[in-house]
Amino acid sequence: MRIVTLAGGTGAAKLLRGLDALVPQRTLTIVGNTGDDALIWGLHVSPDLDTVCYTLGGWIDEDRGWGLRGETFRTFGEMVRFGEPTWFNLGDRDLATHLHRTRLLREGQTLTEVTAKIAQDLDVSHAVLPMSDQSVRTCVRGPDGWLGFQEYFVREKTQVEVVEVDYVGANAALPAPGVVEAIASAHAVIVCPSNPITSIGPILSVPGIARALEATDAVVLAVSPIVGGQAVSGPAGRLMAACGFEVSALGVASAYAPWLDILLVDNQDAALTPRIEAAGLRTIVTETVMRGREGEIALARRALEALA
Ligand code: GDP
Repeated sequence: MRIVTLAGGTGAAKLLRGLDALVPQRTLTIVGNTGDDALIWGLHVSPDLDTVCYTLGGWIDEDRGWGLRGETFRTFGEMVRFGEPTWFNLGDRDLATHLHRTRLLREGQTLTEVTAKIAQDLDVSHAVLPMSDQSVRTCVRGPDGWLGFQEYFVREKTQVEVVEVDYVGANAALPAPGVVEAIASAHAVIVCPSNPITSIGPILSVPGIARALEATDAVVLAVSPIVGGQAVSGPAGRLMAACGFEVSALGVASAYAPWLDILLVDNQDAALTPRIEAAGLRTIVTETVMRGREGEIALARRALEALA
């Protein structure tokens, strides 16, 4: 079985760890969001790709939910002395990933090549692809103008009223090599529980990817990141509202409607299923909030059963 997954950060990483426990190595092709990549201290940081690789490799700091276990922040302290911007926390161990990525990119390797190497060196036993080798940057417009995604998410802690979202560079971007091919030849596609606007949205903004999802014979399944009318975590609800979507599993269904076959909705949202099914989708009602490893594996198993 070949499964393509579309992945943002934290929610995706949990489901992917559940899937990883159930499927053979190399089953998954993980297409990661790079819309929230940023240059920090001159280094190319890919937060979603790193969260996925750190989680699948077993390196993630479970308490913080991002970065590496056993992290220290001594370089960060020195950067404060130099007056460098310090709203984005980079740990000493984490820095090695960004130094390595940045050097390889500067030497002319593509983000696809560099991501594959980093995933392999971090002991990830599935293929990890960026959505594109070109720069696509998610930007949000608030009352004072446009902000890059990390400025909004980390520096402003999402406390900005967003009225518009843009994926800068998307028009000129191409899907990374292998993305469209993997979707076309997959048995199944799983859209992880990720922010529909700032994690899945950027992936879909790359010309050709949404078309590949529409064209594939694979069954396409998504897990709703919206449970009981709100995001399990993060700003997905507010951003969906800003983009004109209902903040519910129904809103997720309408965002993905052109190419989605099955939506996993939470038990709390069972009452929404007739309306989602009226739009032509199949629904599966289950516990979708992943608590601990068991929760991750249970949801992954439910998704695999639905695809079988
Ligand atoms: P964020 O919105 O910027 O944090 O970006 P992510 O793409 O990493 O979003 C995580 C998304 O996953 C959020 O929309 C959460 O609501 C959702 N999420 C996180 N954990 C879970 C979970 O256990 N179950 C479900 N269904 N959704 C989750």
